[in-house]
Amino acid sequence: MLDLVVTGGVAVMPAGAEAADIGVAAGRIVAIGAPGSLRAIGAARVIDATGQIVMPGGVDPHIHCSSPIPFPGRNDDLLSAPPEQVSRAALYGGTTTLLDFAPCPSDQPLRQSIELRQREWAGACCCDYGFHLLLHSNPSQGVLGALPEAIQDGHASVKMFTTDIRPNRQGRMVQFGDIWEVLKILAAAGGIAAIHAEDNDIVMHMYEKLIREDRVGFENMAEVHNTLSEDLSFNRVIRLAENVEGAALYMVHVSAATGVAAIAASRAHGYPIYGETLHQYLLYTAEDYKRPGGQMFHTYPSLKFAKDQEALWAATHHGAIQAIATDEVCCPLQVKLQGRRIDDTTGGNSGVEPRLSLMYTHMVTKRGYSLADFVGLTSANAARIMGLYPRKGALAIGSDADIVLLDPRAGRVLRKGDLHETDYTPWEGHEVAAWPSMTILRGKVVVDNGTFLASPSDGQFLPRKIGDDIRARPAL
Ligand SMILES: [Zn+2]
Repeated sequence: MLDLVVTGGVAVMPAGAEAADIGVAAGRIVAIGAPGSLRAIGAARVIDATGQIVMPGGVDPHIHCSSPIPFPGRNDDLLSAPPEQVSRAALYGGTTTLLDFAPCPSDQPLRQSIELRQREWAGACCCDYGFHLLLHSNPSQGVLGALPEAIQDGHASVKMFTTDIRPNRQGRMVQFGDIWEVLKILAAAGGIAAIHAEDNDIVMHMYEKLIREDRVGFENMAEVHNTLSEDLSFNRVIRLAENVEGAALYMVHVSAATGVAAIAASRAHGYPIYGETLHQYLLYTAEDYKRPGGQMFHTYPSLKFAKDQEALWAATHHGAIQAIATDEVCCPLQVKLQGRRIDDTTGGNSGVEPRLSLMYTHMVTKRGYSLADFVGLTSANAARIMGLYPRKGALAIGSDADIVLLDPRAGRVLRKGDLHETDYTPWEGHEVAAWPSMTILRGKVVVDNGTFLASPSDGQFLPRKIGDDIRARPAL
């Protein structure tokens, strides 16, 4: 007997969407059958998904929980919302897997950095999770030497910044020589590099220039974190990777047409390079900075312009962009609005909960993407690139039973009071054409028609191994 049967819905499977029953036992998908066929076998619980889309749980490959939110002149340790709060919102919105970061300072043994993060998350996350290793400036030989073992242990992606992002914030930028060394290590050990690429010279030059010209309002952010910077830095890091046999790149939060073009050119030559963008960048532009509370729409590098947005959208259609993330840095509105300048505005955003429904609306309803493409961009592709597939991101036999019932009859207008992230949402007033009626995590119903049934002990750490196909060529 099965634990669970989901029957009557349109299931989005790797081969496409069709009416099917999904059977679950011991937390995994164990049977997929014709409509009604599994119901007949019997199950402890039968879930009627008639009229609904049945899809794998969302995968958000880029979030920051319990992460410092710096503000000039203030020395307290203000942190973004913890995993419990963010994972709860994620499950409400149909996302069952989150990838965060383990900060890896140069003066601390790598193993210790990872253990600290593991301890922070164990028993504190309602959904499943993993970590990218986040290298700091000047990684020590000790940290570099310990990377292969960490990759073997399932921390298979390493994040690096090519910029300090803000003038008052040193310690993030990894020099190109060090990035080169890390790419060689990753290539040999089977990892992938996740890069936040901006040209530090251009960015810092623009900070100085705008401060000199007394144009420091954050609405000028796209002049600082600009499209030329994305062009220069993307091409530079891509050229570096192209010269390391076996190096694979995942470019985080692509924001500009120049970034899209750089990735596309390298992929056209057969290099394994993948692009991530944010729903923020797909649906807002730098014009939105001028609205009241416009900081709400900001996340670094910056919102760009209509033609960048068009290029990003075009790239989601089997082009240079494979995954839609949030870059979640969940905080109260007062914190999000505390900075007003180009050099003090809080980055990241609150958006993990409505991500799936917003993307369904804008991809499937408004642009006619197939359900399979929508699931690819919000779940399956990130799972594949980050080494979680087919355990995550697939309705397939043997996969974890992370299943979302997305209800196209439950469209609504997004209101902060209905969401579970924080006291504001950058998506206030947006209409979505569907909303999850149920979220299932490894066979356990964790959200049932608005009732939350998960606990922080439900989340499991996910060791990851990047697929050889992902690292050999642009496999997606
Ligand atoms: Zn980020």
